[in-house]
Amino acid sequence: MADVIADPETDPHATYVLDPASVRALTSRVLASGEPMTTRTPMTGAPLATLPTSTPADVAVALDRARAAQRAWAARPVAERARLLLALHDLVLDRRSELLDIVQLESGKTRAQAFEEVADVAVVCRHYARRGPALLADRRHLGALPLLTRSTEHHRPKGVVGVVSPWNYPLTLSVTDALPALLAGNAVLLRPDPQGTLTALHALALLVEAGFPEDLVQVVLGGAETGAAVVERADYVCFTGSTATGRSVAASAGRRLVGASLELGGKNAVYVADDADLRRAVPGVLHACFSSAGQLCVSAERLIVHERVADELLARLVDAMGRMRLSTGLHWDADMGSLVGPAQLARVLAHLEDAVAKGASVLAGGRARPDIGPYVLEPTLLTGVTSAMACRDEETFGPLVALYRVQDDDAAVALANDTEYGLNASVWTRDVRRGRRFAARVQAGTVNVNEGYAAAWGSVGSPMGGMKASGLGRRHGREGLLKYTESQNVTVQRLVNIADLPGLRGAGYARALTGALRAMRAVGLP
Ligand code: NAD
Repeated sequence: MADVIADPETDPHATYVLDPASVRALTSRVLASGEPMTTRTPMTGAPLATLPTSTPADVAVALDRARAAQRAWAARPVAERARLLLALHDLVLDRRSELLDIVQLESGKTRAQAFEEVADVAVVCRHYARRGPALLADRRHLGALPLLTRSTEHHRPKGVVGVVSPWNYPLTLSVTDALPALLAGNAVLLRPDPQGTLTALHALALLVEAGFPEDLVQVVLGGAETGAAVVERADYVCFTGSTATGRSVAASAGRRLVGASLELGGKNAVYVADDADLRRAVPGVLHACFSSAGQLCVSAERLIVHERVADELLARLVDAMGRMRLSTGLHWDADMGSLVGPAQLARVLAHLEDAVAKGASVLAGGRARPDIGPYVLEPTLLTGVTSAMACRDEETFGPLVALYRVQDDDAAVALANDTEYGLNASVWTRDVRRGRRFAARVQAGTVNVNEGYAAAWGSVGSPMGGMKASGLGRRHGREGLLKYTESQNVTVQRLVNIADLPGLRGAGYARALTGALRAMRAVGLP
């Protein structure tokens, strides 16, 4: 851990403090002439670093720099750009230890959950380096007049892609959406959340070390205002955050008629069917619900259980929850870490207290644990949640889960769909066909059968994103790359003009073309 100069794991009276010289080195290339901001680590609540912020004027200059760098970048062969992704893949794995430290210090999550972010970046680098060039390649299509018309589809970069990322997955969400944009020939203007700034700056240093041109990725710093300044200028916007903010980002992009992909909130459901393997389902449900202390867009806040297995599942789950190891340390021996800060703790406690006041019962957890960390809350399971309670429909974004019993799959599907959101769902069953049938009826952008979220998220060849109020557009897969391009149709007409075929006029022209169209259908042309 190069730049942490005191660690409470070894010295209980210490706080985590970053060496100001390392922070200065990280921010040296950033355009930031605004007021400084101080970030705090959720591990102890103490200040972590003082960082400069970017004014709207800084954002405008950063955009110009990115635009200038983009022209030369787009001219480089895609295979060359792909090689740099593989170089980044190797660097991220080699430097995982320092990345894990900084992700943990900024987010409060456990080391294992921070590692999910490192692994995710590596997977996305590998995937787009290997598959991206073919997806971006020019494609020939049948022309209007076969043999005489040659049509080609090209994918041109948008220009400068603005990425506005939240705090909960500071490495994954600042880097993995930028990578396909870069591969497609774009520059990136990234505004990480203040609480994820150091992680994003570490990642930027690795991008440059991997060989990406220095000015190609511009990082600007600050909160909502800096994010809005990026949204107001970029040629395409990739936003991850809440549905409320997503609506305002979409409106801003709409006013300028630039595209935007929005990865927003969720109220995700896990369904445990009566034929589920409970030995796998119990740890699977815990991971689905309490990874990153529930501050994960795809984590589950609604646990739907078939009544035939509900008692047994509940007994096992409550026992397992009681044995979860809570910690704010930079080590591997923890199952759940901290919430990100006082506002998030207050929000989760408000949902918990509101539910209990209106008649819900706490089956497990339910207590804040200041003895472990200032924003630590036990993993909590409620029953008796009704629509009078805020946590029934609103996204809590914390370790608070409501249990519902159902009599059959129809009721499970109806309950899973009874939300404005549609991000992720999970179903546990020994019968994969039953799982697929459930998936076909659930309105969610990803559905995991016998896994909480990691299977669908980690299968980056397939797109992921939200239905309904959970978003617009997709990350990962073909869509996650081509959204950063403008499709262009370049068609060459040879020998004759289409509207001026030799010897054909008026009715004769129409007769000849009708015959040609019938012939093309008959021979099976597309
Ligand atoms: P938020 O919407 O309040 O803020 C998200 C980010 O947007 C912040 O960094 C903020 O500074 C910035 N921002 C705020 N107003 C802005 C504006 N007008 N223009 C541009 N940027 C602006 O959300 P949050 O509470 O910080 O993050 C948690 C939310 O994000 C949850 O709802 C969660 O579900 C969602 N999320 C979704 C995904 C996904 O992939 N679908 C992933 C992670 C988080």
